[in-house]
Amino acid sequence: MDTKQLPNIRIFEKTEEEEKKLILREYRALLRSLKQNLKRGDKPLLRHAFELAAEAHKNTRRKSGEPYILHPLAVARIAVEEIGLGVTSAICALLHDTVEDTELTLDDITREFNVKVSKIIDGLTKISNVIDLKSDTTIQAENFRKILLTLAEDPRVILIKLADRLHNMRTLESMNREKQLKISSETTYIYAPLAHRLGLYEIKSEMEDLALKYTQPEIYAEIQQGLKETKRERTRYINDFIKPLKEELQLQDFNFEIYGRPKAIHSIWNKMRNKQVTFDEVYDIFAIRIILDSPPEREKEDCWKVYSIITNNYHPNPERLRDWISVPKGNGYEALHTTVMGRNGRWVEVQIRTARMNEIAEKGLAAHWKYKEGGTSQESKLDSFLGHLREVLTNPNTDTIDFIQDFKLDLFTEEIYVYTPKGDMRVLPKGATALDFAFDIHTQLGTRCIGAKINHRLAPLSYVLGSGDQVEVITSSKQQPSEEWLQFLITAKAKSGVKNFLKERKRKTAAEGRDILRKKLESLKATLSQYNVKELMQYYKKPSPLDLYYAVAVGNVDISELDNFSVYGDKLNHLSKEVIADTRNLSDSEEHKSKQAKGAELVIFGEQSDKILYTLAQCCQPIPGDDVFGFVTAGEGLKIHRADCPNAARLLANFGHRVVKTKWAKNKEISFLTGVRLTGLDDVGVIQKITNIISGDLKLNMRSISLESKDGVFNGTIMVYVRDREELNLFCARLGALEGINKIERLDSPDGQ
Ligand code: MN
Repeated sequence: MDTKQLPNIRIFEKTEEEEKKLILREYRALLRSLKQNLKRGDKPLLRHAFELAAEAHKNTRRKSGEPYILHPLAVARIAVEEIGLGVTSAICALLHDTVEDTELTLDDITREFNVKVSKIIDGLTKISNVIDLKSDTTIQAENFRKILLTLAEDPRVILIKLADRLHNMRTLESMNREKQLKISSETTYIYAPLAHRLGLYEIKSEMEDLALKYTQPEIYAEIQQGLKETKRERTRYINDFIKPLKEELQLQDFNFEIYGRPKAIHSIWNKMRNKQVTFDEVYDIFAIRIILDSPPEREKEDCWKVYSIITNNYHPNPERLRDWISVPKGNGYEALHTTVMGRNGRWVEVQIRTARMNEIAEKGLAAHWKYKEGGTSQESKLDSFLGHLREVLTNPNTDTIDFIQDFKLDLFTEEIYVYTPKGDMRVLPKGATALDFAFDIHTQLGTRCIGAKINHRLAPLSYVLGSGDQVEVITSSKQQPSEEWLQFLITAKAKSGVKNFLKERKRKTAAEGRDILRKKLESLKATLSQYNVKELMQYYKKPSPLDLYYAVAVGNVDISELDNFSVYGDKLNHLSKEVIADTRNLSDSEEHKSKQAKGAELVIFGEQSDKILYTLAQCCQPIPGDDVFGFVTAGEGLKIHRADCPNAARLLANFGHRVVKTKWAKNKEISFLTGVRLTGLDDVGVIQKITNIISGDLKLNMRSISLESKDGVFNGTIMVYVRDREELNLFCARLGALEGINKIERLDSPDGQ
């Protein structure tokens, strides 16, 4: 098992001489790994970059205490060794933090190197601002957009950025807890999906493992421990499994490598969570990989030969065969995957690839450049992906925050392959509809689409495509996109196409509404001043002037009500203002009451031990003892979320500036509602036993209990009030000790999710 054990950061204590040696050693290692790519004249350039960066950073140290230059050196090594980039990228990686953090300017870089290098550094500098946690949502979304735009322009920017981020994640140990949470969340939110989309599986996987390690240390440790304890048994199992395959492969004269590897910790965790099972119940913890040394013209044939050797020995699950050789994934991944039944009824996933495919799987996009001369169709697929990105992002109407959301969904979904009437293949995410297909071809085609012929049969816009479908788009010049389309569209490109259209149409309608309103105000001897517009937005409860004008135009608000307004000078004044004030008071006190009733009261938070009113997030229902953070909401004050809340990554990454450090006070007077789900064997006395624990032994307040029994097995949910996590743990332990109960888990939310 090759878990990525990280070096523990200790206080860095070295003499100046030792430091110099260490830095030089790192630099020489970088040179060695670049060796076969170094052309004449490269070496002095690289040396120059190294010396320039070392000089610029010479007075800075990292949080761990080590000289700063070790960071750019490490980033350059990751870029070269793990992503497969070349000399230019190594130079850029060495200089990546100089413009941001030191006196060096982009002009300096252009002068000392060239425009290509300074453009990449510029891209990297812009991206680094994303971590500026003080900026607001729109600025952060704008920065995500910049990331994606630079990706579309020169993929090296994002590849070096990924190397930078990976090194930061590897050295996160020395950061404080908040930084750890924020950086981890941002990594899960945007960088890991990007690495995935670019085919950098190893890097994506390590990022996710590290993020899990810092966001949910207990779970990470538990799985790591589990893997350690079962290592011996798993190794034996794998060796037995591999043995007959090895013999036959040798017999048939294959040049190959075969080995088993444990799945990443985060993917084991995903399985535990999605299937609601414990570590012991996750069966396919390992996968077997066979890497063939095969000439290009025999690759496909050889892989299928190996497939047949495997299935001669083990029964395959026909539903789990994946042929990414005939049709590679959109990010270029090629391999044959099958899942077969091993000894003791365990499913084992087997991946078959050639050495070339393996390099693509590990180095993703960068490896494509290397094989560019090979002339595969991969290149064009990536190009079209990048082309799409550019097209959408450069449209000034695109709502960035929305787009990022949709784009992220695109990143992870599985793909289907469909064909145009001429037989050209298009790759779309699974679940894409006929209308998504139309937008994929061209935005104009999408907005005019009225239906499609799927394999020559007429189908509606919302028809969900399957792999192999041939799609012919039918259009009409009278067609216009509608709000309903958004219900069934799934690709980011189509959604933003429709949204842009709707926004443009709304803007036009709003312009008419603005005219109507202006005339109405003139008749009242008032004008469309900023003050008055604001007053009316408040009165009609519209969030923006655009929404106000639009509502006027479509008659959603009644402007004859304006006749009841008084006008002082030019200012509109709503007569019944006092009445509003009164009701506001009323609702205030009502809100107060309901909060008290829920038992959410004052607790000491933050560094100054201020008393702040807060509410507990419904999505994850934290209780004292949980690792939590506070989130400043627009209307409801501080909301407390669990650090492992399903929404945490999104909140921390997008709204970092609104996150407040929180901790629990030692106040045990308040009870918190929480829930557990349990399964067990049906037993007439079970409810009695459970209620005995709740009200007898532990004296907890129970809100509800529901048990459902089927075929001798029951599933139940219990909602109780506890004082803190300790009490919840005790409760779970007591339940677990009951005979017949075999699983207890905490609910994320009261509706049982
Ligand atoms: Mn950096």
